[in-house]
Amino acid sequence: EVNVVEVEDLRVHFSRRRGVTVRAVDGVSFTVAPGETLGLAGESGSGKSTVARALLRITDPAGGRIRIGGRDIAGLRGKNLKTFRRQMQMVYQDPYDSLDPRMKIGATVEEALIVRGVPARERATRVRELLDRVGLPSGLAVRYPHELSGGQRQRVSIARALGVDPAVIACDEAVSALDVSVRAQILNLLKDLQEDSGLAYLFISHDLSTMRFAADRIAIMYLGRLVEIGTGDQVFGAPRHPYTQALLAAVPVPGARRTGPRVRLAGEPPSPADPPTGCAFHPRCPLAEEICRTTRPELAVKRGGQLAACHLAPEAEPGPKPEPERNP
Ligand code: SF4
Ligand code: MG
Repeated sequence: EVNVVEVEDLRVHFSRRRGVTVRAVDGVSFTVAPGETLGLAGESGSGKSTVARALLRITDPAGGRIRIGGRDIAGLRGKNLKTFRRQMQMVYQDPYDSLDPRMKIGATVEEALIVRGVPARERATRVRELLDRVGLPSGLAVRYPHELSGGQRQRVSIARALGVDPAVIACDEAVSALDVSVRAQILNLLKDLQEDSGLAYLFISHDLSTMRFAADRIAIMYLGRLVEIGTGDQVFGAPRHPYTQALLAAVPVPGARRTGPRVRLAGEPPSPADPPTGCAFHPRCPLAEEICRTTRPELAVKRGGQLAACHLAPEAEPGPKPEPERNP
């Protein structure tokens, strides 16, 4: 099946004072299939949210290509842009910021149905159905956001996103502010919805345990670039990039294995306004060699099958050996 999201060589630049250009996203490529969850992980400032904002056309890219539902979104204007926006929705960390405090829950969810052109006479029923789908009693429709718990508010955000019937939802730290038990409930809800409808998620989080649970594939970002991408088992089971190894060494992640030397993350990430030469991770990488300071490593297939951008990561095993020639 065709990918619902295709990002190719995406670049997002911000201009700072004195003509400084910040390459917030610097040549990122990935795909998301229907029914798939792609996790985007990395420290804050790595460019994760900026990727999502570019996908939603909140931020204009400086280069590259974004296709959503098979459609190049770069040139969309007016009505076409509005139609596109229904394909992709965003759920944010704090629903307080995205829910109107003066608007009742029912009206908030109904708004999504209006965007989608659902006739007035059907909307009350559809609002009840949507609340039910996210596990909320329909009685909450007459309440205001401040009368709900954090988990309930996040369910409302999800109901509103579902209301426009999107193909993909970007969840930007969507469960990060919730208690552990509530977080698990919301993650399970997202999984159930995905199984029912084939929704794709772009799941952005700095929390690797959440990522391990939620994502089918995981992309690790560092200073605006992907440094590793593969399945959860590849990236967490046998990480190949020293940065991924360092992230995993810093927190216990169920099922994650430590490979290679113990890498500890020292210091803060460098400023994206003044990225290091060569491999951007080299000032913090205990394995760095001369080539790391001079030459930028590209993503390449490494041992285990994932892609990683590191000069020293072990290469992929050669293919199966040919059958030995049999003597006549
Ligand atoms: Fe470390 Fe060099 Fe690999 Fe960069 S390329 S992660 S500096 S070993
Ligand atoms: Mg962010």
